[in-house]
Amino acid sequence: MKVVKFGGSSVANAAQLKKVGAIIEADSERKIIVVSAPGKRNKNDVKVTDLLIELGKAAIRKDKKIQSYIEPVMDRFSEIVYELDISDTILHDIKTDINKLLASNLSDEELMDSFKAIGEDSSAKFLSFYLQSLGITAQYINPKEAGIIVRTDPAGAQILPESFTKLYDLRKKSGVLVIPGFFGFTKSGNLATFSRGGSDITGSIVAAGVKASLYENFTDVDSVFTVNPTFVDNPKEIKTLTYREMRELSYSGFSVFHDEALIPAFNEGIPVCIKNTNNPDAPGTMIVAEKTPSYNCVVGIASDTGFTSIYVSKYLMNREIGFGRKLFQIMEEEGVSFEHAPSGIDDMTVIIRDTQLSKEKEDIILNRIKTELKADTVSIHHDLAMIAIVGEGMKETIGLAQKATTALGEALVNIEMINQGSSEVSMMFGIQAEGLKRAIQSLYDAFFVEDKAKTL
Ligand code: ASP
Repeated sequence: MKVVKFGGSSVANAAQLKKVGAIIEADSERKIIVVSAPGKRNKNDVKVTDLLIELGKAAIRKDKKIQSYIEPVMDRFSEIVYELDISDTILHDIKTDINKLLASNLSDEELMDSFKAIGEDSSAKFLSFYLQSLGITAQYINPKEAGIIVRTDPAGAQILPESFTKLYDLRKKSGVLVIPGFFGFTKSGNLATFSRGGSDITGSIVAAGVKASLYENFTDVDSVFTVNPTFVDNPKEIKTLTYREMRELSYSGFSVFHDEALIPAFNEGIPVCIKNTNNPDAPGTMIVAEKTPSYNCVVGIASDTGFTSIYVSKYLMNREIGFGRKLFQIMEEEGVSFEHAPSGIDDMTVIIRDTQLSKEKEDIILNRIKTELKADTVSIHHDLAMIAIVGEGMKETIGLAQKATTALGEALVNIEMINQGSSEVSMMFGIQAEGLKRAIQSLYDAFFVEDKAKTL
């Protein structure tokens, strides 16, 4: 049994949903389907989830012009329903649900989550009705009925372990089951959404729960690329990746697959295949537990911007017991999480995402480090980009760091930070964001363009 997830672009309009129908029809093992909310139909379009977030905000502030927020959502849904030629009673039901929410006394968080979930919930209903119209036995299954039990968390709902046993029962149901992605229910029955892009998480949870033979994740690219195509023209495709490699890549800017979505599939050892709804015959990218080592162990180069580093130096830091703890305690007390913390003998750098910091918080942290830790130097650097070169077996490969640093040098990019020690599967470089495109192109040439790769 396969669990198949279709992303926002795959359910963006009726034409896309028809492709989804054909993909489901083509393989009788595709039994459990998880869907996103309708995404962008073109570059300038707005995702339904974003429309719903605006609607949610308007509802929370009791905006008198609430109708003007409901209309764009209903217009998107109507277009899909009419073009799929399915019963329009569903539109009436969605409208009733929206009105019920507006009249409810849910907390602001619950209200927002309930609005956000309407996108996925409606998609799942549209698809199940459409499959039925094709003569396929299909039914919509609500996440509560499916057994997706979560706890709330400011960073997005988290699945509870008991869900997996409950989900296994889905195997007993016959026909195709269509489950909305992105949300679950707490033990007390409240709806809670995962973090943005969280339908991938639902797909993975369901695949783990039913112990699927494969989790297919349909999106709008043929495969995962070795590097972001906005930086390099026609980058090579990745055929097979390990979970660990994918985790590193999706952490640092590869948006093809949600980084939280790997864990459930990984825990159950379920292979994941990333495929393209617009080209379903392309083999896609497989994500597996183990793969045979290859000569070029680097599988991909990921990058992300929006980082700040705090540099702290103090003579004899290496001998001062508890220095690191005290530094991290300051971060903890100020409610800031950090991404990396490379260190030297007398110094340490803490790398933080900009989203974690405000100017005010920055000043407080710098001041506390200076006074409480009696540091010699404390400085802050903005506009950093992080580049991760990812691949199993990198640690054991001679000359790899040299190859990367030579490529960065050739691109006239100064390396502000290197971090190789901690991860078995990646090497990280911190550089000024301004040089990112040059850096990526040069690294890509060094690792993936054969002629160039040989000369380095
Ligand atoms: N619709 C949600 C979002 O836009 C979840 C998803 O598409 O996976 O974030």
